[in-house]
Amino acid sequence: MTEADLIRSLALRARAAIAAHADELTALDQAIGDGDHGINMSRGFDAVANAVDELATLPFGAALRKAGMTLVMKIGGASGPLYGSLLMDMGKAASSVPKDTGDAARLLDAGVAAVKTRGKSDAGAKTMLDVLVPVQAAVAAGGGPAEARAAADAGLEATRPMQATKGRAAFLGERSIGHLDPGARSSALLVHVVCDIAEGK
Ligand code: ADP
Ligand code: MG
Repeated sequence: MTEADLIRSLALRARAAIAAHADELTALDQAIGDGDHGINMSRGFDAVANAVDELATLPFGAALRKAGMTLVMKIGGASGPLYGSLLMDMGKAASSVPKDTGDAARLLDAGVAAVKTRGKSDAGAKTMLDVLVPVQAAVAAGGGPAEARAAADAGLEATRPMQATKGRAAFLGERSIGHLDPGARSSALLVHVVCDIAEGK
């Protein structure tokens, strides 16, 4: 796959995955937030996919940065600046398309660090970081797509018994327990998209 085709595939398949699960993301956010996560993510990833022709002309790192800036501008909620920081800082760390697990780990290290800084948060607070941090760890340990996917799925499920201490869900206190975190679900969806593409599926 050429670099341009990879950028196209990532943008279009991310949009498709978010669109297919928008109602589910909204329902999860209705349970422990304000019910807009599906709409927020759809707005952001529609804008990224609509810019695909321009994105595909850019080097990989610049395309990631541009997609991140688009998410910051288009998503109203907390998730916009967080996903935006993830992609922008991964883009800054990417001199080219990752060639191996070590390259992918460097990108993830940069992106996940940016989410932690922006969210003043870490794994354990019932957020997207409960998916992103285990995926980062799996890739840093040399894991490929299968390990990254498994880490995402386990991280998502681990948010269910957690009490939220960051984001809107934190206002619910103990009542946030027993639900999956919507941002962890959207992160898991996006990890699956990247892993499928990495495996040539
Ligand atoms: P909002 O909370 O403004 O309505 P969204 O509904 O789009 O925004 O996104 C909510 C998701 O954002 C949460 O499910 C959580 O995963 C993530 N989130 C919120 N605050 C933080 C934070 N401080 N650090 C990391 N992730 C966060
Ligand atoms: Mg919300």
